[in-house]
Amino acid sequence: MTPFVPVIDAHCDTLQRVLKKEGTLGEGIPKGHVDLARMRTGGVNIQVFACWTPVPYQRHGATGYALRLIETFYRQVDQFPDALFPILRASDLDRITPSGPIGGVLSLEGAEPLDGYIEALDAFHRLGVRWLGLTWNFRNAVADGVADGESGGGLTPFGEEVVRRCQELGIVVDVSHLSDAGVEHVLRLATGPIVASHSNARALRKHRRNLTDDQARAIAATGGVIGVTFVPSFLTDDPAQASLDHVLDHIEHFAEVVGVNHVGIGSDFDGIGDTPPPRGLEDVSRYGNLRRGLAGRGFTQADIAAIMGGNWLRVLRQVLPD
Ligand SMILES: [Zn+2]
Repeated sequence: MTPFVPVIDAHCDTLQRVLKKEGTLGEGIPKGHVDLARMRTGGVNIQVFACWTPVPYQRHGATGYALRLIETFYRQVDQFPDALFPILRASDLDRITPSGPIGGVLSLEGAEPLDGYIEALDAFHRLGVRWLGLTWNFRNAVADGVADGESGGGLTPFGEEVVRRCQELGIVVDVSHLSDAGVEHVLRLATGPIVASHSNARALRKHRRNLTDDQARAIAATGGVIGVTFVPSFLTDDPAQASLDHVLDHIEHFAEVVGVNHVGIGSDFDGIGDTPPPRGLEDVSRYGNLRRGLAGRGFTQADIAAIMGGNWLRVLRQVLPD
C-alpha cells in the first residue's frame, strides 16, 4: 500500500461564480468547472480558492470586493460543514483523508485589497488568507504585473515589506502574473518556498504569463513549486486546439528542467476566460485523465502523487503556521 497523498489544485476562481449566485459548491454550479461533487469524482482533496478583484474594482473598492469573496467562502463552509473546511494551519493538513471533507485554502490574487497598508495583510491573515499572488496583470502598490513588465519594474519598497511579512506570518508568496523583474526581485528576498500557482513554460509557449527556464530553476531552488495551468492561451500557439497533451508537455518540460518535486497543478478552472478548457480536462472531475496521461508519459506512481499534490503539500506544511 502506498501512503495516501492528497490531490491539490493551487488555483481556481470558483468563488466568483458562487458570489454571482450561479450555484453553490455543495449543490453544483452547472456553468462552472468546480464543485464538491465533481471534486470528489476527480479525487481533489485540497483546493486553493483565489479571491480575484475584477478590473473595475482594482483601483477602488478592491478591499471590499475581496471581503465579499472571503465571506462567500465561509458561507460555503457554513452551508456544507461536512464537506468543506478551511485550511488555516499546518495541522489542518492532517485532517485530509481520501474521502473526507475537502480543504479550502484562501488566496488573494493580487495585493490590491491591501490598499497599500501592511496592517491589512495581517488582517487578511486573521481572516484566513494563507496565499498571496502579489499582482494580477497590472501595476499595484506592491509591484508591476506582467502587462507593465516593459517598465522593468520589480517590487516597490512596500512590496518588499509585503513579501517579508508574508514569510513571517506564514502566507505562501505567489509570483504568477508578476513581471519578470518582479519575479527576480521576490526570489532575492526568499527565505522559504516561492511558488507560481498557475504558470506554464515559456520554452513551449512564448507568453508573458509563462516562466522562463531560469525563473523555474530559481523557484525550485527556494523549495517552491510551479503549478502547470490549463489556460489554453498559456498552453499552445493555437488555443482552440488545446488538449490534455499540451498540459502533459508543460509538466514534462518542467520535470526535466527543475525535477519532478517542483511541479504541481494550478488549473485556473473558472478563471479560464475566452476559450473552453483543454480537451480531456473539461472540468475538475477529469483529473483521472491527467493521472493516466502522466502514467502514459512514463511517470512513476510516486512521481504522479508528487505532481498531483505531494509537492504542494510539502510547501503548505513548510509555510503555514503550526
Ligand atoms: Zn490568474
